Amino acid sequence: MSRKTRNSIVIAGGGPAGSVAALCLRRLGHEVALFERERFPRYRLGESLLPGTMAILTRLGVADRIKAANFVRKNAATFIWGPEQAPWTFTFATPRTAPWVHDHAYQVTRAEYDQILLDAARDRGTDIREEHEVTGIEAGDNGGPLSVTWRNRQSRGTVKADFVIDATGSHGIMARKLGLRRYDRYFRNLAAWSYFKGGKRFQGDLEGNIFSVTFREGWIWIIPLKDDIYSVGVVSDRASSARMREVGIEAFYQECLAQCPLATEILDSATRCAKVRVIRDWAYDASNLSMGRTFLCGDSACFIDPLFSQGVHLATYSAMLAAAGIDHLSRRPEDADSVAAWYESSYRGAYNRYHEFLAAFYSANAGLDSKFWQNRQIEGAGDSRFEGKEWFTALSGHQVEAGADGIGELEERASTLADLWQHEKNEVTDRFDETELSLRRVRWASHLLRDFRRMTRIAWASEEVRLIPSFRVHPTSFRLERQYFIGDETGRSMTAFPLSDQHRRLFASLKETPLGYRELERKLKTIRGYATPIQIVGRLTENGFLQGYDKDGVRVRIRAALRFGGVGAEDDIS
Ligand SMILES: Cc1cc2nc3c(=O)[nH]c(=O)nc-3n(C[C@H](O)[C@H](O)[C@H](O)COP(=O)(O)OP(=O)(O)OC[C@H]3O[C@@H](n4cnc5c(N)ncnc54)[C@H](O)[C@@H]3O)c2cc1C
Repeated sequence: MSRKTRNSIVIAGGGPAGSVAALCLRRLGHEVALFERERFPRYRLGESLLPGTMAILTRLGVADRIKAANFVRKNAATFIWGPEQAPWTFTFATPRTAPWVHDHAYQVTRAEYDQILLDAARDRGTDIREEHEVTGIEAGDNGGPLSVTWRNRQSRGTVKADFVIDATGSHGIMARKLGLRRYDRYFRNLAAWSYFKGGKRFQGDLEGNIFSVTFREGWIWIIPLKDDIYSVGVVSDRASSARMREVGIEAFYQECLAQCPLATEILDSATRCAKVRVIRDWAYDASNLSMGRTFLCGDSACFIDPLFSQGVHLATYSAMLAAAGIDHLSRRPEDADSVAAWYESSYRGAYNRYHEFLAAFYSANAGLDSKFWQNRQIEGAGDSRFEGKEWFTALSGHQVEAGADGIGELEERASTLADLWQHEKNEVTDRFDETELSLRRVRWASHLLRDFRRMTRIAWASEEVRLIPSFRVHPTSFRLERQYFIGDETGRSMTAFPLSDQHRRLFASLKETPLGYRELERKLKTIRGYATPIQIVGRLTENGFLQGYDKDGVRVRIRAALRFGGVGAEDDIS
C-alpha cells in the first residue's frame, strides 16, 4: 500500500489513548494515521477498568467487541484497608440514566484489550503503522503543518500533519522533550507484580471484584483475569528499593505477599506463571496538556497511583476530549485559546479529582506505623509535596488543617465514603451480600435530604453570579458544543453540570432575597436542565458558592459529592 506523507492528524502511540482518539476522529470524519512503536499484541499493565470507559466505548460502538472477548466482569472494587483491615466494597451500581451508562467494567488482559481497540480503529479506516517509532514532533513554521519523524528497522521518514496527538504512554515523547513532566512528590511508589494460575475464586456479589489490601509497607492488588489467572501486585514506598536490592526482587515480592492473609488465602493453591516485574516512580503530570496543535493524552500527559484503577479511563477520556477539540479547531482555528483552556481544565480537572481523592483516602486511612503509611499522611497547609497542585491550593484557601475545613473535611468525606461501603462483618466471603450496602446508602441519603431541608435560608456567597463559557463533548456526535457553568467574579465555576442564564438569574436573586431549600427546589424544577435541584444546590454549596443556614442561623454543611466526581463514573456526562 502506498503511504501518504501528509495526514490531517497523526497519533503517536496505539494504547487505549491512541486507539480511542483514532476511533473518535474517524467518527468525526477525519483522516488519521497512527504510529505504534511495537507490533501488537504487546504486554501492558493496567488490567482493571472503570465503567466510565465502557460508557465511551459504547458510544463509539466498540463495547460489543470488548464484551465478546469474555473478560471477567467487574461489578465492584473491594478494599481491605487501614489498621482494622475492614473490608469495603465500592459497587458501580448506578441508575441507567442514559443507554451507555454502565454498572460494571471488566478485568482485562491488556494485550488483548489493546489489540481489540487498535483493530477497531483500523477497521474504521485509521492508517495504522505498527513497528513505527515516532522520534520527533516539530511545530510547523508560521502555522504550517507539523512534522512527525519516525523510524523502524528498515527505514525512517517524516510525515506532515495538521494536528498531532501524543499518546506514547509513559515514554511521553513531547513531555520529555519539552521538559513538561513533573514527578509527584507525594506518590513516590514502586510496584512489583506477577501472575498466578489457579487459586480461590469468590462467588456471589464479590465475584470478579478487584481486591486492594493493605499491609505494613503498602498495599496489594489482586485482580481476577480470565483463563483462571490472577494479576497480583505489591505497591510500596520507593524507599523499599533498598530492601529489594538486599533480598532480591523475587524474595521481596514473596515477603510482601506473605504479610497479606487474603493474598495467602486466595493464592494458596495457585501456581505463579510469570516472572516478577518492577516499576518505580510512575506518578507525574505535565505542566501543559496541549501546545497549539499538539495534544497530550493518557500516560504521556499524566498518571497517578493505580489504587482506583483510573489509568485507562483517564487515557480514554482525554483521547475523546482531544479528538473533539481537534475536530473543532479544524473548522474554527480562531478558537485555539478557548479550546486549549477547556482541554486543560477538563482533563486536569479529572486528574485532580483522582489525585485529591487518592491523597485523602490514603491520608484518612493511614494508621499503620511504617514508612509507607507515615509518608502518606498529609501534613496540613505546609505540606510542600502538594505545591502547585491546584486542588490543594484551593483547599489551603479553606485552611488546610486537620479537623478544620480543607484537608480535615476532605479526609472526613473520604472516610464517610468508605463507611458507606463498609461490610457489616470483618470478613471476605462468598456470603457477602450487597443489599447491606444499599440499606446504608439509603440511610445516608435520607440524612442528606434532611440536611437540605434544614436550610431555611440559602444565599449566594460571592459578589456576582456569572455564566462562564466552556465546551462539552456531545455524547453521541462527539462534536464540541458550547456550554456554560455557573461561577463568580473570580472566574471560578462549578463544572459538574452546565447551567443556564435562568439559573444565573435565580441565584443572583438570592443575593437580595435568600430562599429556603424547598422554595429554591421548587423554582429550580421550573428550569430546563438534566441536573436535579439536589445535585445543583449540593454542588454549589460544597463548592462554596451557596451558603445555607438553619432556622437558628447556624450554617448547614452539605456533603453530597461523595463520589468525588470522576471516581468510577464518566466525567463530563452524568
Ligand atoms: C503499577 C501500575 C498499575 C496499574 N494498574 C492499572 C489498573 O488497574 N487499571 C488502569 O486503568 N490502569 C492501570 N495502570 C495504568 C495504565 O497502565 C495506563 O494508565 C494506561 O496503559 C495508559 O494508556 P496509554 O494509551 O496512555 O499508554 P500505553 O498503554 O502505555 O500505550 C502507549 C503506546 O505508545 C507506544 N509508544 C511509546 N513510545 C512510542 C513512540 N515513540 N512512537 C510510537 N509509539 C510509541 C507504546 O508501545 C504503547 O503501545 C497501572 C499502572 C501502573 C504503573
